[in-house]
Amino acid sequence: MTEKLVQRGIGRYFGALNPRTQVALCQLPLTLIVLALGIATPFAWPDLLHSPLYVVGLLLHGILFAACFLIPWERLHSSAYLVIPVLDLLAIGLSRNGAGTLVPGLVILAIFPIIWLSASGMLARTSMVLSIVGPLLIMLPTVAGKFPHFTASEVSSLLLFPLMMLAVSLAIRFASMNMRTQQRQLQEKDKELRDLLAASRERERLLKTILDATDVGIVAVDSDGGILLTNNRQRDFERIAGPRDGRSMAEGQQLIFARDRSTPVPATKRPVRRAIDGESFADYLVWIGTGHNQRAVSTAARPLTDDGGQFSGAVIVYTDVTGLVEALAANEELVSNVSHEFKSPLNSILGNVDLVLEDVQGTSPLSARRLEVVQRNSERLLALVSDLMASASSALKVHPKRTDLASLVETSIGSAQPQAEHSRISLVADIPSPLWAYADPLRIGQALDNLVSNAIKYSPGGGVVNISAQGTGDWVRLKVQDSGMGMSPEDSARVFRRFFRTESAREAAISGAGLGLSITKAIVEGHGGDISCTSSPGKGSTFTLTLPARGPAVY
Ligand code: ADP
Repeated sequence: MTEKLVQRGIGRYFGALNPRTQVALCQLPLTLIVLALGIATPFAWPDLLHSPLYVVGLLLHGILFAACFLIPWERLHSSAYLVIPVLDLLAIGLSRNGAGTLVPGLVILAIFPIIWLSASGMLARTSMVLSIVGPLLIMLPTVAGKFPHFTASEVSSLLLFPLMMLAVSLAIRFASMNMRTQQRQLQEKDKELRDLLAASRERERLLKTILDATDVGIVAVDSDGGILLTNNRQRDFERIAGPRDGRSMAEGQQLIFARDRSTPVPATKRPVRRAIDGESFADYLVWIGTGHNQRAVSTAARPLTDDGGQFSGAVIVYTDVTGLVEALAANEELVSNVSHEFKSPLNSILGNVDLVLEDVQGTSPLSARRLEVVQRNSERLLALVSDLMASASSALKVHPKRTDLASLVETSIGSAQPQAEHSRISLVADIPSPLWAYADPLRIGQALDNLVSNAIKYSPGGGVVNISAQGTGDWVRLKVQDSGMGMSPEDSARVFRRFFRTESAREAAISGAGLGLSITKAIVEGHGGDISCTSSPGKGSTFTLTLPARGPAVY
């Protein structure tokens, strides 16, 4: 029953009341009017105190109001309380007929029980019949008492008033039906929302389980660096990085170090800070923690965007690569030691071959040719050993100064000329002279030699190698372009990795160890510049390197 009585708005509070209070409240308006009538009767219509019907009618109202409180509605059928409005009609009928022509308007009180019956939404047909029959029966005895001297207005009221009450009943019924439909829709929506909420909680639990089961640290942050989501592995990393104040890795005095394991990474270069500055990166290596707990972590970040495509945060992934980095370091140390050990005997072989060559040059041409082969191969071996040593030393040392790139290119072209002529290649340079850059002439010369000799080496069918350069404000851009065998876009992305060689270079049996470009890249990056490669198979390749035009300002 409680539910049936519930309406929207104040209905929420009404629904919280106990059934007896609810029934009493429905009855209250009519009771108040009848009470006022009862109080007014001795003064306004004292004769009515002698009308038994009128007095019984008033008393019945009082009894009905008391019954609202006394009857245990909660234990009865949900429509049982409707007996009150039905008996109200009876009480109104008694008072109305008892009052006769003294208070003719009393019949209007029938509107209260009719509203109540119609709004209840129950016993639809009964309440409709009662809404027309009730007022009719209330009015009929008084009108019938005048038989056969009815006035036209009495007859029309007898017919019209019940019809009006029927119309009121129908209007209330439709309005409450509409309200109930809306309420049902609201309840359905409410259920839908609850189901959605439950499903999203379920998904969240699933996501958390998956995240905690992975071996990489994951953290999602909003655009201010506040943590939106993280996993257990990430919490481990944060514990190692300290301090233990629950702040994200972007803040605080955290133990985050650069590749050398001891230089603290500046706040603006920390992975989370870079990510919330909108950067997207991969393979950014940092060391976290200190001592034997220190871990090498490869970090990657991707931005998050909201529905409008605006930056709203980032996801940062931390992968522990300590084992890998340590294995690589051990490998580099081994290569560096072995190369070093090779270098002295090779230098000694070359020196002695030189001496013997001088001795046999005039006397034994055959021995001289054989010694020249030994000399060439020893030189190749020495170059390879130097490359290995250079690539094994993780931080290549550069000593930049104000350098004219045009003259470096000229020297490089000069030394590559014999190789170019041999391969039917013309070397073309288009460089403004002088072209100043802040560069280590030895190292950049080495990088240029590498690029030019590659351009010739990987153009087996001859062609043109074009070297151009130009200054662009703070930077100088240098291009080495060939029309040789080229490579696929996938290969050009991997070409700077150590020991990488393209399939076509191997198939064409072009000699090489796959070290030159990794050294070139280390040299360029050592200057704070960068190098890139664009290429297409069969059409040729272009290597572009960017170097700073001037050194840091001195104040
Ligand atoms: P190497 O030339 O000794 O093999 P590099 O590191 O200089 O080593 O080059 C790596 C690989 O990149 C080469 O083996 C070759 O497959 C490819 N490569 C380099 N330069 C060019 C180029 N100009 N054209 C086509 N392929 C190239």
